[in-house]
Amino acid sequence: MEKSFHRVLLTLAFLLALWPTLVVAQGSRPKKVFVITDLEGVDGIFDFNLQCIPDKSPRYAESRKLLTAEVNAAVKGLYEGGAGSVVVYDGHAGGHNLLPFDLDPRADLLAGTPVPPTLELDPSYAAVIFIGLHAMAGTPQAILPHSYTWDIQNIWVNGKKVGEIGGRVMLAGSFGIPAIMLAGDHAACGEFLQLVPQGECAEVKHGVGPTAGFTLTSSAACALIEKKASQAMRRLAEVKPYTVKGPVKVKVELVSSPSARTFTQQPGVEQLDGRTWLFRGNDLTRAWLKFSSF
Ligand SMILES: [Zn+2]
Repeated sequence: MEKSFHRVLLTLAFLLALWPTLVVAQGSRPKKVFVITDLEGVDGIFDFNLQCIPDKSPRYAESRKLLTAEVNAAVKGLYEGGAGSVVVYDGHAGGHNLLPFDLDPRADLLAGTPVPPTLELDPSYAAVIFIGLHAMAGTPQAILPHSYTWDIQNIWVNGKKVGEIGGRVMLAGSFGIPAIMLAGDHAACGEFLQLVPQGECAEVKHGVGPTAGFTLTSSAACALIEKKASQAMRRLAEVKPYTVKGPVKVKVELVSSPSARTFTQQPGVEQLDGRTWLFRGNDLTRAWLKFSSF
């Protein structure tokens, strides 16, 4: 009896002695960050045909440089703020926009198409940030606002209107990952902060219409992005993942057109009218993936 009591005491003492090491090991696990990029929200970009169509737009080569500079600034800021590794997803058009020769060598690049619909995210990431994202379709005074494709008018998740920012904040949340920072125009920042009030935003331009507005220069935008990315990393613990309670309904309203897209009606996919569809699932990804990738 006395022997076993001693053994219990010894085990307790051993665990107590080890406790600080265990806590430090947990807290110092290298923080992996996933950077989701797009092009329309980057500084200096206002015109889709002139600047955003790979290998066709006359100023596309310049757009790639602007995007790569913003991403490098973000990578630098993330490391300054405590990131242990960074993966960058090239998310515009076919995923060949970032310039690999110029990209910060500390970043891993996820490029090309098709990328799996949940963007290869998994719960091992500590945070997601957004560079170059834009406001949802129909947003006033937003530069190049749209929601995934130009034929979508509105998307609602359980009644909440979302665009690409909201969809991806929610996607990250479904893996338990907080979205902590965005770089984009004034409208995109508003959309992000409405969902993530504790997040950081680098406002690199401000629309006066869908194809015009004020912009920071590339170097000023990059300085701001570096600062905000670093701050966001330092404040990581303050931001909680955005969670959507199931069951989930994703309602998609297409723009009015005689050639509007159609989906195959099946369990969980329902046509509400000529251009509105409802996708249901037990959770966000199961509902959303019946409609599209994120
Ligand atoms: Zn894009």
